[in-house]
Amino acid sequence: MKKLALHWKILIAMALGLLFGIIMKNLALNQFVVDWIKPFGTIFINLLKMIAVPLIVVSLIVGLSDLKDIAKISKLGGRTVLFYLCSTVIAITVGLGLANLIKPGSYINESSRISLLESFSVDANQKIALAEQAKTSGPLQPLVDIVPDNFFAALSDNGSMLKVILFVILIGIGLILIEEEKAKPVVDFFKGLNDVIMKIIDIIMVFSPIGVFALMAALMAEIPDFSTLGALGIYGLTVLIGLAFMVFIFYPSLLLIFARINPITFFKAIAPAQLLAFSTSSSAATLPVTMECVTDLGVDDEVSSFVLPLGATVNMDGTSLYQAVAAIFIAQAMLPYPLDLHTQLMIVVTATLASIGSAAVPSAGMVMLVIVLGQAGIPEAGLALIFAIDRPLDMCRTVVNITSDSTIATIVAKSVGKLHAPPKKLV
Ligand code: ASP
Repeated sequence: MKKLALHWKILIAMALGLLFGIIMKNLALNQFVVDWIKPFGTIFINLLKMIAVPLIVVSLIVGLSDLKDIAKISKLGGRTVLFYLCSTVIAITVGLGLANLIKPGSYINESSRISLLESFSVDANQKIALAEQAKTSGPLQPLVDIVPDNFFAALSDNGSMLKVILFVILIGIGLILIEEEKAKPVVDFFKGLNDVIMKIIDIIMVFSPIGVFALMAALMAEIPDFSTLGALGIYGLTVLIGLAFMVFIFYPSLLLIFARINPITFFKAIAPAQLLAFSTSSSAATLPVTMECVTDLGVDDEVSSFVLPLGATVNMDGTSLYQAVAAIFIAQAMLPYPLDLHTQLMIVVTATLASIGSAAVPSAGMVMLVIVLGQAGIPEAGLALIFAIDRPLDMCRTVVNITSDSTIATIVAKSVGKLHAPPKKLV
């Protein structure tokens, strides 16, 4: 009942926020929304992000130490990574297939292409920053990024979650390997802290309708005028078709086949996390709620506390699908020749790595797209073409990212006998 109420509250807040934003925009009161409403959305995202890092650290330590056995950790880890990789590659293949079929790039006409590219060059700083990032980070950079040279620096950097996870996994393994009586007080401390963090999340979520309202109102007030961007519609639609396929066909099939769980039950449980992913565009900010929802569904803490933080950081099906479509779209719009099969296969590899390397924050997927474009020989300036409608696509791909994490957490839990029957209210 409580969950259902939250889910409806968020949905209503979202609708009201959108409406309010549109009205204010029409009254030319955008600045009022930016000055007086938007900060509440930012505060809400900050609160979620604030708790996400301690949550990852503490729940991962508790989860790993509960496993009590290195063999169990490697079994769980092996399955998780395998499922994550497979689902990402499938998502990219869906994206490539759709982009080749629909050919969104062929709908861009010369004049809109030039005007979009020109409008982008106004934002020169951003362009330079993107280009620099592309130069410094090669395709293997995501692997290098896993290993921290300073744990505390990693803790305070949003994009370094993988480093934190690696270090915390080592602590978990260390706790299993030392004598039990020495490990016990440490584990008990983290268990207590875990309960405290869960309470804090409950408190933050009381404010979620206000936060979501503010985020949606600000989004509408700040949105650019879409009338000149008609040609981008087909591209946006291609991404959305791919994302919808993942959410409504691919994940439900996986759930039915591998977890024998009714997809409706699953969606009822994770709806609050999906709504939050949509309004915050950040899997990291959504993580605390994703964890609660998946636990509600019946996934044991042992599994969710390991699979979900890892997934929020490395498993981004929505992002990788979007990167595939965007790369093909830009190539179709800007290159005089079609991309050959070899280049498209390279896109599968680089988009997998780029989505693993994307931080779980708004727009990260678009920044990492530079790497995919660079590797495939597609002009990076083409980012200008997709810039304008990135935000709504970001909202949708983040929903897919967290739905994928939750699906795989459920499947992995089932495969190790840690999926409990969902509570009656969900069935
Ligand atoms: N916003 C996405 C996420 O947090 C990442 C991206 O695709 O930009 O999952």
